[in-house]
Amino acid sequence: EGDICKIKPEFMKSFQFENKLLPSTWIVIRIDGCHFHKFSDIHDFEKPNDTNALNLMNSCAMAVVEEFNDVVFAYGVSDEYSFVLKKDSQFYGRRPSEIVSVITSFFTSVYVMKWKECFLLTKLKLSPYFDGRAICYPSKEILLDYLAWRQVDCHINNQYNTCFWMLVKSGMTKNKAQEYLKGTQTQEKNKLLNRFGIDYNTLPIMFRQGSSVFWGMEESTTNEMEGVPGISVKKVVVDYINIIDKSFWYDHPHILG
Ligand code: ATP
Ligand code: ATP
Ligand code: MG
Ligand code: MG
Ligand code: MG
Ligand code: MG
Repeated sequence: EGDICKIKPEFMKSFQFENKLLPSTWIVIRIDGCHFHKFSDIHDFEKPNDTNALNLMNSCAMAVVEEFNDVVFAYGVSDEYSFVLKKDSQFYGRRPSEIVSVITSFFTSVYVMKWKECFLLTKLKLSPYFDGRAICYPSKEILLDYLAWRQVDCHINNQYNTCFWMLVKSGMTKNKAQEYLKGTQTQEKNKLLNRFGIDYNTLPIMFRQGSSVFWGMEESTTNEMEGVPGISVKKVVVDYINIIDKSFWYDHPHILG
C-alpha cells in the first residue's frame, strides 16, 4: 500500500503519447462496419441493397451531425460513413484517438438504439461494431476529391453487386457469378442488367449515389396564411446528390465555409 502511494500522476501521464492532427486541415473520420457481410446475412438484409439498413445508417449519421457541431458534412454508402470536420476544428484538441473513439462509439450506440425503428420485425441478434480512422486533407480540393472517390466507389460497387445478385437470384452459384463478372466493363454490365429488364439509371437514387447528410434550410410549414412565406429553419437533412459534380458545392457554400 505504501508503494502505491508513491505513484505520481504526472509520471503516469508522461507516458501518454499526445499526437495531434495537422492544424488547419480537413479532418475526415471514416467508420466502417466490422464483419457486416456476416452481420447482414444474419439479419437477412436484402441484397444487394437493404433499404432499412441504409436508412438506419443515415439516421445514425444525422444524429452525429446534430450532436457534434464541428461535423459539417457526412457521406455514407453500404456499412461506411465519412464525417468531415470543419477545417479549424478544435474538437478534443484535434487528438485523433479521442475524436475517432467518440464519433465511432456514438454512432454505434445510436445504431443499436434506433435498430427497432428501422427493422420492425427483425430482432437485433449480434452486437454491431465499427472501426474508425482519421485522415487529414490539406485543401478543399483534395477533400472534394476524397468525397468523389467514395461516390465513385459507391457506383462501381453498386453496379457490380446489382449484376452479381441478379445472376445469383436467377440460379447461378456465387462462384460462377463472380467468375462470369471477372473483367467485365461498365457497358457489358449495363447490357447484362438490360437482359434482366433493369435500367441501371432507374434504380433508387440512394443506391446509386449514396447518402449525404448536412445542415440545410427547410421551409417550415407552420405558417398557413396564403402568400406569407414560411420561416426557414436550420435542419439536418439527408439527400442523395451528386457530390462529384462541383455544382452542389457552389450551390451550398455554407457547408464547408
Ligand atoms: P470488414 O470488417 O473488413 O469491414 P465487412 O464484412 O464489413 O468486412 P465490407 O467490405 O465493409 O465488409 O462490406 C460490407 C458488406 O456488408 C457488404 O459487402 C454487404 O454484404 C453488407 N452490407 C452492408 N450494408 C448493406 C446493405 N444496406 N444491404 C445489403 N448488404 C449490406
Ligand atoms: P467528460 O465528458 O469530460 O468525461 P464527464 O461528465 O463524463 O465529462 P468524468 O470526469 O468522466 O466527467 O466523470 C464521470 C462522472 O459520471 C462522475 O463525475 C459522476 O458524476 C458520473 N458517474 C460515472 N459513473 C458513475 C457511477 N457508477 N455512479 C455515479 N455516478 C457516476
Ligand atoms: Mg473495415
Ligand atoms: Mg465493413
Ligand atoms: Mg464497408
Ligand atoms: Mg467522462
